Amino acid sequence: MKTSFVAGRGDPHTVNADLHCHSLMSDGTLPPAAVVERAAAQGVEVLALTDHDNLGGIAEAADRAGELGLAFVPGVEVSVTWGGETIHVVGLNVDPQDPVLREGLANTRAGRDARAVEIGERLAAAGIDGAYEGALRYVGNPALVSRTHFARFLVEEGVCRDVSDVFSRFLVEGRPGFVPQRWAAMDEAVGWIRCAGGQAVLAHPGRYRLGRLQRDAMIGDFRDAGGVGIEVVSGSHSVSQYAEYARVAVEFGLLASRGSDFHGPGESHVELGQVPPLPDSVVPIWHDWELAA
Ligand code: AMP
Ligand code: MN
Ligand code: MN
Ligand code: MN
Repeated sequence: MKTSFVAGRGDPHTVNADLHCHSLMSDGTLPPAAVVERAAAQGVEVLALTDHDNLGGIAEAADRAGELGLAFVPGVEVSVTWGGETIHVVGLNVDPQDPVLREGLANTRAGRDARAVEIGERLAAAGIDGAYEGALRYVGNPALVSRTHFARFLVEEGVCRDVSDVFSRFLVEGRPGFVPQRWAAMDEAVGWIRCAGGQAVLAHPGRYRLGRLQRDAMIGDFRDAGGVGIEVVSGSHSVSQYAEYARVAVEFGLLASRGSDFHGPGESHVELGQVPPLPDSVVPIWHDWELAA
């Protein structure tokens, strides 16, 4: 039976909600069930699995969460292009069977393989052979080849010391292995999430290379499209960004979300459930959720 998740728990700010993480179904390193087990062991009380552009890990994660008595939220992280910049929009409490969301995600994924082949070609031109085949060895879901898989291969090859070093030297704009990609439009991605009964949340807003005016225009477009939440406390944010995006949440009338953006042990510097609580000034997006726990 579904009941109000926060009823009887007092202040929702004290609930350990981790609403952003990845499994092998995208660019995480653990199977979905193992992500759930690890979250439970870390004291997470409500967990959303939010793999990039696909819902393939939801059923396994939901089953394991049911066995462990952990409140589970089906989620997704959709790749969006806004103003030439890649933006990530998280969908929470989406119906994984919704045909509109499923088709939108399928279309979003469609270009990934050709892009990966081209990344391999560009890296070969830069003197690194076999990167496409090498990246595929790290892929858990053939429909979801990501830059992260290339990064792991280059670390394994000893080309770079860690994944973030690979990104800055090879995989971002202006670097030899970068291939531009046009993802979903903001209003499309938010529309699919809403159609699937979910809440759209702007992921790690502190990470985008947008000036203040552009950033506010982007958040305005996100809200106009029906977006309702923003990540305030994220594994991708600095401590000063927690305060900055708490102010932005209040200014734009958005609910606040919290997530580690965990990708795997060793690689992620932030563990599941181990980011600070949301500041008191914001309303946690889970404040009125009804969840089976
Ligand atoms: P893709 O969707 O293939 O473009 O890959 C995006 C993923 O790459 C993100 O979800 C992150 O997991 C990872 N990523 C992006 N930038 C960096 C970075 N600077 N350092 C480490 N990982 C990154
Ligand atoms: Mn990722
Ligand atoms: Mn992201
Ligand atoms: Mn993520």
